[in-house]
Amino acid sequence: MESEEIRVGERVKELIMPRSKFVKVTCRKCRNEQVIFNKVSTVVKCLKCQNELATPTGGDAEIKGKVTKSLM
Ligand SMILES: [Zn+2]
Repeated sequence: MESEEIRVGERVKELIMPRSKFVKVTCRKCRNEQVIFNKVSTVVKCLKCQNELATPTGGDAEIKGKVTKSLM
């Protein structure tokens, strides 16, 4: 019973968030750390220096900064 519940839970999570996650990115210019979504529809810029951190592509975002941590 227990293992079945876990399997159902995993399937639900996949349906809600297909291959999407938050990542912590360090700006290559000013070393500011920022948490961004790995699927973006617009260019994500560093809040401090306006350097581009991620740009949208057909699928996952192209991360320009240094990814230091995956949060999900
Ligand atoms: Zn920056």
